[in-house]
Amino acid sequence: MNENKYDYLIVGAGIIGLTIAKEIKKRFPLSKIGILEKESKEAQHSSGRNSGVLHAGFYYTADSLKAKFTRDGNFLMKEFCKENKLKINHSQKVVVAKNNEEVKTIHKLYERGIQNKVNVEIISKKRLKELDPNIKTHNIALFSPDTSTIDPEEVCAFLKNFLIEKGVDFYFNEGYKENLNNNSILSSKNKIFKFEKLINTAGLYADKIAKDFAFSKDYTIIPFKGIYLKYTGIKKPVNINVYPVPNLNNPFLGVHFTITVNGEVIIGPTSIPAFWRENYSGMDNFNLSELINVLGWEVNLFLNNEFNFRTLAFQEIKKYNKNHFTNLASSMLYNFDKKSFSEWIRPGIRAQLLNKKTKELVMDFVVEGDANTIHILNAVSPAFTCSIPFAKYVVDNYII
Ligand SMILES: Cc1cc2nc3c(=O)[nH]c(=O)nc-3n(C[C@H](O)[C@H](O)[C@H](O)COP(=O)(O)OP(=O)(O)OC[C@H]3O[C@@H](n4cnc5c(N)ncnc54)[C@H](O)[C@@H]3O)c2cc1C
Repeated sequence: MNENKYDYLIVGAGIIGLTIAKEIKKRFPLSKIGILEKESKEAQHSSGRNSGVLHAGFYYTADSLKAKFTRDGNFLMKEFCKENKLKINHSQKVVVAKNNEEVKTIHKLYERGIQNKVNVEIISKKRLKELDPNIKTHNIALFSPDTSTIDPEEVCAFLKNFLIEKGVDFYFNEGYKENLNNNSILSSKNKIFKFEKLINTAGLYADKIAKDFAFSKDYTIIPFKGIYLKYTGIKKPVNINVYPVPNLNNPFLGVHFTITVNGEVIIGPTSIPAFWRENYSGMDNFNLSELINVLGWEVNLFLNNEFNFRTLAFQEIKKYNKNHFTNLASSMLYNFDKKSFSEWIRPGIRAQLLNKKTKELVMDFVVEGDANTIHILNAVSPAFTCSIPFAKYVVDNYII
C-alpha cells in the first residue's frame, strides 16, 4: 500500500485550507504540506459558489472572531488581489431601511462598525440619491465605502498555483475516508497518509470528520442553500451593492443586490434549509443517511420553532418562486425590471453549524483541536473575506 507522510496534511482545498497552507509555508518554508481534495479541482463548494463580496465588518459584535478578522481581511485580500493582478471591483455598499424599526437597527450596525474600527457612515436620503438615484430608503441608510467584490474562483486558483510552486502536494479526486489513529488516515483511494498535524478544513463535511477525532461533539451542520438570479437586461438597475436590514438574531443577510467583480448585477442569496449537504439542485449528490440526519434536525427545529426556524423556513422556501424572490429585491428600488432578473446562476450551500445542546445556530467561527489535529468548524460568511487573518490566527494559536 502507498504511504505518504506530511508535516501538515490539510483536508479540503477551499479558501480556508488554501490560506492556512500559505500561512504555514510562510512561517515554515521547509515544511512538507499535502492537501487532499475530494473534487477534481479547488473551490468547488462554498469558496467558488459565493457572492464574492469582501465585507467591511459592521454586522458582528465586537467580541467575535468575525469582527476581529473582517476589517483586516477586507484590506489584506484587496492588497493580495492588487499585488497579484487579480480582479477587484470597488463596488461599495448601502444598507437601506423600510421603517423606523429598521432605522434603529441601522444605528446599531453603525455602532458595531465604529466599535470594530470599520469605515462606515450614516447617510441621508439626499446623499443616497447622489450615490444612486434608484435606491429607496426610509430616512437614512448605512454607507460602507470599503465593501468590494472579487472573483473567488480566480483567487483560489491563484493560491493553488502559488502553493504548487512552493512545493505543496495536491491530491485531487482523493478525499479523507477514515481515521486510522496514530497520526494517520485512509484516503478514498485507500492510501495511507501520515501526518504530524491534520488540519480539517472540509467545509460542509468538517463536523463529520471532526467527530472521527472526538471533536465537534456539540455540533452538527445544517446546510442552508443560497440561490441567485442574474440580471440580463441592458440598463443596470443599481451601481452599488444594496442590502436590506438583516435580522440580527440569525447569521443571514437577506436578499440583496450584488455588483459582481465583472459588473454584473445579481440578487440573492437565499437561506433555504437544504435536505443533505451538497443538495444544490434536484437529486445532486443525494445521500440517504445525510437526508435522515439533516431532515431529522430540521423537523425537530420546525416543530419546536427553535430560533424562529418555522418562520425562517416558510419565508425562505417561498423564495423558490421567482416572482416572490424578485419582489423582495424590488422593494429596495424605485424602478425595477423584474423580468430581466431571469437567469438562475450556480447556487451555494452554507456549512452552518447548529449547537445541538442549545438548539441555536452558531454565529461565529469555531476552531477545535489538540496536538495532532485542528478542525475548522462554521467557516460561514464572511469567512472568504476573513481568510487571510483567520489563517494567521489558526497558525498562531493552534500550530505554533
Ligand atoms: C451562498 C453563499 C454566499 C456567500 N457569500 C460570501 C461573501 O460574499 N463573502 C464572504 O466573505 N463569504 C461568503 N460566503 C462564505 C464563504 O464562501 C465561505 O465561508 C468559505 O468559502 C468557506 O471556505 P471553506 O474553505 O471553509 O469551505 P469550502 O469552500 O466548502 O471548502 C471545503 C473543501 O473541502 C472539501 N472536502 C469536503 N469533504 C472532504 C473530504 N472528505 N476529503 C477531502 N476534501 C473534502 C470540499 O470538496 C471543499 O472543496 C458565502 C457562502 C455561501 C454558501
